[in-house]
Amino acid sequence: MSSALVVFSGGQDSTTCLGWAKNRFDRVETLTFDYGQKHRVEIYQAKKIATLLDVENFVLKFDAFSQLADSALIDGSLDISSAHSHKPNLPASFVPNRNAVFFTLAHAYAQKKGIDNIITGINQTDYSGYPDCRLEFIEALELALNLGSESNIKFHYPLIHLSKAQTFEMSEQEGVLELIIDESHTCYNGNHNTKNEWGYGCGECPACILRAKGWQEYNKKH
Ligand SMILES: [Zn+2]
Repeated sequence: MSSALVVFSGGQDSTTCLGWAKNRFDRVETLTFDYGQKHRVEIYQAKKIATLLDVENFVLKFDAFSQLADSALIDGSLDISSAHSHKPNLPASFVPNRNAVFFTLAHAYAQKKGIDNIITGINQTDYSGYPDCRLEFIEALELALNLGSESNIKFHYPLIHLSKAQTFEMSEQEGVLELIIDESHTCYNGNHNTKNEWGYGCGECPACILRAKGWQEYNKKH
């Protein structure tokens, strides 16, 4: 029996990955991180989507980032749309080593649960400039984590080369488009009250702008 763990934030990308995984693996579970993010509504939405798709969801709580990171994703006083204070080439939402920590914890959780595959929604196409969303990084980390634990857990990243419009396309193919519009959360400002045709969000933060633009491109073809 094949098994997969989806690193699940409750956003558009990871919900698409969950649909993708459910159509390919016998047993699918989800792991959500509670790391003190401002947009905490995503944790609630992740739980809700997992319940609707009848998959197990585990919320792993850790507060190291809130003590370490100088990121607008965590610190409400920083402007989400500006450059990062220490790394001017990166956006303020960058959290140093976030994916390294997330995937390391997911890998440990997969070992504990006897799961052979980890699915992540990382994407290097129309991403926000995060260097830990690149293919080279995830491949290096996969190798390091398997070497360091004598395991052979395979990482999958079905969205790595897709645009947001193509991600909408894939979510339709995998049967989760409606769920993404109605339940997923991507907005950095934690706005889950304003419903747009592309889903909930403020419509102004970088995550909402990317999602709205992807929806428009996707819609042109339909
Ligand atoms: Zn927003």
